[in-house]
Amino acid sequence: MRFLIAGAGIGGLTAALCLAKDGHQVVLLEQSQAFSEVGAGLQCGANAMKVLQYLGLDQALRNNAVEPQAIHFREHDSGNILYQVPLGERYQRQYQAPYYHIHRADLQAALLEQAKALPNIQIQLGAQLVSFSENETSVTLKLSNGESIAGDCLIGADGVRSQVREQLLGTNSARFTGNVAWRAMVPMSALPNDFMPALTTNFVGPSKHIVMYYVRAKQMLNIVGVVEGRTENSTSWVQKAPWQDFYDDFAGWHPMVTQAINVVNKDQCYRWALYDHPPLVKWGSNRVTLLGDAAHATLPFMASGAAMAIEDARILQRCVAENSALKEDVQIKEALSLYQRNRSSRTAYVQKTSAKLGKLYHINNRYLQRAAFAGLKLIGPSKEAYLPSYDANTVALN
Ligand SMILES: Cc1cc2nc3c(=O)[nH]c(=O)nc-3n(C[C@H](O)[C@H](O)[C@H](O)COP(=O)(O)OP(=O)(O)OC[C@H]3O[C@@H](n4cnc5c(N)ncnc54)[C@H](O)[C@@H]3O)c2cc1C
Repeated sequence: MRFLIAGAGIGGLTAALCLAKDGHQVVLLEQSQAFSEVGAGLQCGANAMKVLQYLGLDQALRNNAVEPQAIHFREHDSGNILYQVPLGERYQRQYQAPYYHIHRADLQAALLEQAKALPNIQIQLGAQLVSFSENETSVTLKLSNGESIAGDCLIGADGVRSQVREQLLGTNSARFTGNVAWRAMVPMSALPNDFMPALTTNFVGPSKHIVMYYVRAKQMLNIVGVVEGRTENSTSWVQKAPWQDFYDDFAGWHPMVTQAINVVNKDQCYRWALYDHPPLVKWGSNRVTLLGDAAHATLPFMASGAAMAIEDARILQRCVAENSALKEDVQIKEALSLYQRNRSSRTAYVQKTSAKLGKLYHINNRYLQRAAFAGLKLIGPSKEAYLPSYDANTVALN
């Protein structure tokens, strides 16, 4: 079968590898002219790592990844630990895969290297999908350079502003959440060796939180600072912004926070407007589907958007294989509907829970926040297994 994938982000690349592994032809279309290094970290839980292990990427990732020992939620100014989630060896034993902090560019490079080595994956850069049409036997894409490409199935892995989604649903429906995220990477040479142990440290406070963790074999500190209650002031979802604004957003926070922001490169400060989608009940047609952020963009408070895209890719591959005994036209239709059925409730859970977690992190009153995290100590541990215990390689499809 010939699959056309629009978008070579983490989701599109993983889907290409999964489908190619089963012998399908894949054309991967990316609008950018080049794969550029995106300076951001990703937390990658066992659920995503199990798929990456299936693809044989764990060794390549392990070389540069950092395995945190725990997630610490700390009060924004005092630094008191409000709640912690144990990770490390215990987590790995429990979920049969590690929890890694990975530089996004390292994950992209590992996926890309493998994709380039496979003869049945064809990667086209500078290939922007503008529209598609489908009939009973095929789907045809129109690219911005006027080229047409035909295949058996189209996967829209073209991110939160997905063109495929817009055409499928008649609207993209991405909505600005009022949150913006500062993202920065700091070389550890700019900070003391004992700055913090290998943890995910999340300082939470009034209307804001800031997460810090190491990537690239502890050579770099990844910083994500989220601020709510902003109005959208740009059509671009990521823009260069003054370092002073970043500093001012977290002025008066714990000394570790100001210490880290102080060493951020003042000419390389980026602020992202955070969009999400309302959860969807239906996101495909007979030959076209969506994957990753194009289907279910979420706030980043569960650190799981990329993980959902990675799970999507593996489940889609399995759904196609599951229906391989059927005639080609029925096979795709049945596979896409099985895929969506098996992905919609899990991804909707992540979308809804991420939004709820944002409210918890950003509680404005110190005492209410302490009480809320104390409540989490009672119910949190029973919920923590939901994400990492999922194994896209083996979960029953229904
Ligand atoms: C602040 C922040 C922190 C995050 N932290 C985490 C985390 O710790 N863990 C985690 O799992 N997730 C995290 N995420 C989420 C994660 O980054 C996304 O969910 C993930 O990158 C989505 O991957 P994707 O492949 O679906 O989309 P994208 O990465 O957006 O890729 C889409 C690709 O499609 C291309 N494209 C777009 N339109 C077209 C077109 N018309 N034709 C051809 N190509 C097109 C784009 O150029 C792009 O390359 C975070 C997100 C943010 C904003």
